[in-house]
Amino acid sequence: MSSVQPGCLWVVATPIGHRDDLSARAIDSLRAVAVIAAEDTRHSRPLLLHHGIDTPLIALHEHNERDAVEAIVQRLVAGDSVALISDAGTPLISDPGFRLVRAARAAGIRCVPVPGACAAVAALSVAGLPSDRFVFEGFLPPKAAARKGRLQELAGDARTLIFYESSHRVAESLADMRDVFGGERMAVLARELTKLFETVIGEPLAELAARVIADPDQQRGECVLLVAGCGQEAGAKLAEGRRIFAILREELPPAKAARLAALISGAPRKELYVG
Ligand code: SAM
Repeated sequence: MSSVQPGCLWVVATPIGHRDDLSARAIDSLRAVAVIAAEDTRHSRPLLLHHGIDTPLIALHEHNERDAVEAIVQRLVAGDSVALISDAGTPLISDPGFRLVRAARAAGIRCVPVPGACAAVAALSVAGLPSDRFVFEGFLPPKAAARKGRLQELAGDARTLIFYESSHRVAESLADMRDVFGGERMAVLARELTKLFETVIGEPLAELAARVIADPDQQRGECVLLVAGCGQEAGAKLAEGRRIFAILREELPPAKAARLAALISGAPRKELYVG
């Protein structure tokens, strides 16, 4: 029997902007491991050097994850401890690492979280939207039809909705959210959190979409979009509208069926059918 103890995989959150949002425990673990698997070694090196961490780095990104995983798991099994970091925030949260953690766990390796920044949770913590139940949707599909389809699936969800969005699509996405969820639904744009131009704006979707479309400055940097869940009354109307729509659609063209179902139920037509 081998006397080598397997190493641990430390899954370490790094800052989403402010360099000092790296915990003391994160710094200790990043110094102690044999190697740090980083999404982009050039991106992470300055942060690590700023905190006096000179542990060797290897690359683990979405394009080499399959191959890199095997080599890293072999090192873990042989007794090396490894830390996993991404470019920003918590690894695996819209970032690489899932395959590595899955493979490490399957090989009996202990995976230890070192929690810290996550843009979704940071945004939720200051949004002023209900936070007892929420759903993290990551990035919406980039193509308009698929994006609207995804939003429609979420229209009746009572939980606060959290999305990541790239700056060059934020205006388009907000316009689609206004169309699908209705202009009165409360929403929050949380931009450049923990950075110099940190901005958190909460207002109904019609106003927020108009503001962002009109102001290119609001389309810069990194952002999280949060939308209030569907209210109970609106949720019931929507469920009824969809039920009627499904029946009418058997006999009528979809646009006509949606118009009638909206009229009968009081639910917004666009939430029943976007065509
Ligand atoms: N793993 C990261 C986390 O834990 O939040 C997320 C990585 S994902 C590739 C990057 C997206 O996170 C950005 O496009 C943006 O939507 C969001 N994000 C990251 N940093 C942010 C910040 N400082 N302010 C607002 N949103 C941010």
